[in-house]
Amino acid sequence: MIQQEQQQQEAKVFFSRHLLEWYQREKRDLPWRRHRNPYYIWISEIMLQQTRVDTVIPYFHRFIERFPTVESLADAPEEDVLKCWEGLGYYSRARNIQHAAKQVKELYGGQVPDDRDAVFGLKGVGPYTAGAILSIAFNRPEPAVDGNVMRVLSRYFLIRDDIAKGPTRVKMEGLVRELIPEGEASSFNQALMELGALVCTPKSPRCLTCPVMEHCAGRLAGCETELPVKTKAKPPRPEERLAALVEGRGAHAGRVLIRQRPSSGLLARMWELPHWPAPPAEGGAPRTPLPEAAAQDRLRRSLQSAGISARPEGHWMAAEHVFSHIVWTLQVYRCREEEALPLAAEGRAVYGAAAAEAAAGGALLPDGSAPVELFDDGSGDPADRGAVRWINRADMANYAFPNVFLKLLNSYFDEQEQAGQE
Ligand code: SF4
Repeated sequence: MIQQEQQQQEAKVFFSRHLLEWYQREKRDLPWRRHRNPYYIWISEIMLQQTRVDTVIPYFHRFIERFPTVESLADAPEEDVLKCWEGLGYYSRARNIQHAAKQVKELYGGQVPDDRDAVFGLKGVGPYTAGAILSIAFNRPEPAVDGNVMRVLSRYFLIRDDIAKGPTRVKMEGLVRELIPEGEASSFNQALMELGALVCTPKSPRCLTCPVMEHCAGRLAGCETELPVKTKAKPPRPEERLAALVEGRGAHAGRVLIRQRPSSGLLARMWELPHWPAPPAEGGAPRTPLPEAAAQDRLRRSLQSAGISARPEGHWMAAEHVFSHIVWTLQVYRCREEEALPLAAEGRAVYGAAAAEAAAGGALLPDGSAPVELFDDGSGDPADRGAVRWINRADMANYAFPNVFLKLLNSYFDEQEQAGQE
C-alpha cells in the first residue's frame, strides 16, 4: 500500500516536471500568450470555449482592436459587440462578457480583479474561466479544468470516473491543485491545456511523442483510447421551420427583409430572416418537411400575421442551425413583397402592431385563418418584438446575424450579383 502511494507520488512529480519542460520547448506562440494582460486572457478563454484556436485567432485580434480595454467594451453598444462576435456562435457568451465588463468597470475601476471571489462573481465566468484567469494572468495556484484537461488526467492517472459528472470535475480540480508546482501555476495550467490540444488528443493520442508517456497509467494499461469515460448528452431535438426570404420591390427593390429577435431568449437581439415552426403533420406526428403547397400556404399566413404582405414563390434552399439543445432545419422560401411596407423607422410599429393585435385579441386574419405567433419560443412580451429592416448587401455590416442567416444572406446576394453579371 505504502509502495503504491509512493509510486503514485512519483508519477505526479514526474508528470509536473516533464510537462513543464515540454511546454517551455513546444508551446505555441498565441496572441494572448504574448502578454499577461488579464483582460486578453479572459476574452481568449471565453472565445476558445467550443471553438478551435485557428478560428479564434482572427476574432481575438479584431475584438481587441475594437475593444482594447475593459472600459471600451463596457461602454460599447451591444450591437457592436455582437457584430464583432458574429460567426463565433454561442452569442450569450458575448453578451455575458459585456455584462461582466460593466461589472469590472463599476466595481473594480476597470481592472480585472486578482481575487477569487471577485472573478467568480463576474457574469459568464464559471470555475474553468475563473481558474484560467487567476492562474494564467496572476499565477495563482488555481485549477482550470475543462474537457481537455480531464481527458489528459483520466488517461495519465487511469481514472474511470464519468467526466460528465460534477463530482469528477471537483476531484480533478483537487488533483490539479496537488500537481501545480510552486510558483508555476500559469505555465503549468497552460501546459496541461497544450498537451490536451496537441498530443493527448481525443481520438488518436500521440503517445510516442508525449513527454509523460513513461508513467502514463492509461497508456501502460493499453486503454488510453477508452478514456475518458463520458456519458453521452441527450441529442438535440430536431425542429423543422419555414423561413421567408422576402425580396422587396419598388422602394425596396434589391433588398430583403430581416427582423430582430426579442431582447431575451434564444439569440436575443440578433437579426434573421423571419421564420416559424412548420406545423405538425396530420395526427400530430413529428414535424417533417411539408409538401411544398402546404408549406407556402403556411408561410404566407405567417407573414400576414406578422404584418408582412408577401407571396411565397418557391423553395430556395434548406439550412441547419445547431444549438446545444435543438437543431433547426430551415426550409427557406423565396417570397415577393406584395405591397410596399413602410421604411425602417416605421418598421417596428407596423410589424409589431399587427402581431400584437393578432396575438392579444385572438383575431382571425382576413382569410379567416388563425394568426401565428411572431416568435414562438416563449420569448416574452408581444410588445417586445424588435424591428424589421430592408437591407442590401452593404447594410449587412450594420447588423449581427447568427451564422446560418449570415450564410443564407451571403448566398442570396452572391446569386443576385452573378445573375446581374450574366
Ligand atoms: S501517453 Fe498517451 S494517453 Fe498518456 S498522456 Fe500521453 S498522449 Fe495521453
